[in-house]
Amino acid sequence: MKTLIVYAHPEPRSLNGSLKDLAVATLETAGHEVRVSDLYAMGWKATVDAADYGPDASSPLQVARDSGRAFDAGTLSADVRGEHDKLLWADTVIFQFPLWWYTMPAILKGWVDRVFTYNFAYGVGEHNDMKYGERFGEGTLAGRRALLSVTVGGPESHYTARGINGPIDDLLFPIQHGILYYPGIEVLPPFVLYRTDRMTAEDFPDVAKAWEQRLLTLDSTEPIAFRRQNFGDYEIPSLQLKDGLEPVGRTGFGLHVRG
Ligand code: FAD
Repeated sequence: MKTLIVYAHPEPRSLNGSLKDLAVATLETAGHEVRVSDLYAMGWKATVDAADYGPDASSPLQVARDSGRAFDAGTLSADVRGEHDKLLWADTVIFQFPLWWYTMPAILKGWVDRVFTYNFAYGVGEHNDMKYGERFGEGTLAGRRALLSVTVGGPESHYTARGINGPIDDLLFPIQHGILYYPGIEVLPPFVLYRTDRMTAEDFPDVAKAWEQRLLTLDSTEPIAFRRQNFGDYEIPSLQLKDGLEPVGRTGFGLHVRG
């Protein structure tokens, strides 16, 4: 396996830092190749601007168009090209981050905004009135697998169907489906640790064991069965799920998962 770990925490001695270090050690010991994008340590620039798109950026700036043109011309800024190279090198991508305000830290969202450019992550394939390109199961990053490793402050019960925060699968849907599955990456069920602010050093060995177990079984883990866009589950051109395909009682984001 060739694994890229995209890691977002400002403190190397944090729980997230420990989980990242453990992932590197576990995978390397098992004979896999690992590269890490440590976003805070890299001083990752989280905001999109004209400097990302080389000398030909338009004025006024048109983010989608300019990013696609710079991608095609090879004039994207060097940090973004570096992340493209890592993504194309990897067959597995692990995202290690704490849940902040129900989602990923801003620096990681900024990585997505800048790295997932037009013609690379979106705008891929034929687009017309009847076809919305190659996405959701197809795209530039098809053939790769991703895993979110997320630490959460609240207890698990707060993130269940009746829990006050909503189900964790719903919170992670925009990342797992909207960002990762969109350009074709298969997404493995997430590794989520709850109540982490109450964790102590004594709790860590059990957590480490569970994490190692997930890491060493990545190859044999089935991805979430998100429905593919272009393979008959959706009406054309509305892209609404066809009548009768919804499992009994399933609503909301869960409609887009088979079975
Ligand atoms: P740390 O603070 O580094 O560690 C957590 C605990 O683990 C500490 O007590 C530490 O001593 C212990 N620990 C045990 N073993 C180790 C080890 N080997 N290495 C390191 N630490 C160890 N929570 C929610 O549920 N929902 C939210 O929407 C949410 N939003 C947030 C927004 C912000 C801006 C912030 C700052 C926090 C938010 N939280 C939220 C809480 C957040 O998710 C947790 O604080 C975070 O996941 C904990 O991860 P950490 O790496 O920062 O932990």
